[in-house]
Amino acid sequence: MKLFLDFDPCKECDSFIEDLTTEESLRADDFFRNEKSAQFMRHLTYNHPEVIQAITAEVKSQERKPEFDLYK
Ligand SMILES: [Zn+2]
Repeated sequence: MKLFLDFDPCKECDSFIEDLTTEESLRADDFFRNEKSAQFMRHLTYNHPEVIQAITAEVKSQERKPEFDLYK
């Protein structure tokens, strides 16, 4: 699932995004990446609630899309 978010990242966001997209981090193990992602989500939750709302809305709209019907 891809999400396109339109918001103004603060300095902390920038550093999270940077951390998550460095060569080093892309090669890092899942534990490190999950930790970082979790920290980023926590930061978004507390500092950018509008982003969380946008994600929630997007997830809901993707859930509503009719799925391919295998039985037809
Ligand atoms: Zn931020």
